[in-house]
Amino acid sequence: MTMEAKKGRIVIDCNLCKGCYLCVSVCPNELIAISTESNEKGYYPARFTEAKSKNKKDLKCTGCAMCAVVCPDIAIEVYRG
Ligand code: SF4
Ligand code: SF4
Repeated sequence: MTMEAKKGRIVIDCNLCKGCYLCVSVCPNELIAISTESNEKGYYPARFTEAKSKNKKDLKCTGCAMCAVVCPDIAIEVYRG
């Protein structure tokens, strides 16, 4: 029996995000980056980068939820499976 890696994905509400980037710093797989476009409040929101990820290890979101837990603005929803 092989152990499959857990799968997850996140959705960031860009207009709730205040650009503190705590989520960027905690994601163990470096899947969150900073957007180049500002939101309606003038902040540059975090964005989920897995689809465009070119990191060498090809790391995927595991749904660990560390990003959502650390977000002070409850801007991140985590989906598993
Ligand atoms: S932790 Fe929340 S508020 Fe801070 S950058 Fe990430 S999504 Fe935005
Ligand atoms: S759920 Fe975990 S692996 Fe997925 S983006 Fe958030 S911190 Fe990274």
